[in-house]
Amino acid sequence: MAEGPPPRPLPALTADNTPFWTGGERGELLIQQCGSCAYFIHPPTGFCPQCESRDTAYVPVSGRGFVETFTINHRQWMPGLPDRYVLALVRLAEQADVRLVTNIIDCDPDAVRIDMPVSVRFEQAEDLWIPLFAPAEGTP
Ligand SMILES: [Zn+2]
Repeated sequence: MAEGPPPRPLPALTADNTPFWTGGERGELLIQQCGSCAYFIHPPTGFCPQCESRDTAYVPVSGRGFVETFTINHRQWMPGLPDRYVLALVRLAEQADVRLVTNIIDCDPDAVRIDMPVSVRFEQAEDLWIPLFAPAEGTP
């Protein structure tokens, strides 16, 4: 195995999503939040769907969440990616409708369960820090 993380397709940075993809440099999962009603907005759009405010800002969240749903990928989609990994939707502890498309790492794919508590890890890829999730401490 080569050193470092496997190559993966990287998202395009925009003015709206840059804090989300770079907060991991400081170990922070940053989610856009409405300044008027405190609703978390993800994917970030700069616009609150709850109260229609444009007063949004990125705030660090706990990085804790739960596996909403997942699939174990057995096919190698591109060279360098592992041939068996967990593609998951993780809902954040702060707000159930904030869901991140991510991977579950640091555990056997067969051990992943719906509603399993997870916490964020960051994997650097070029100038991005990709939020991935691992089983939370204390999970049996
Ligand atoms: Zn709002």
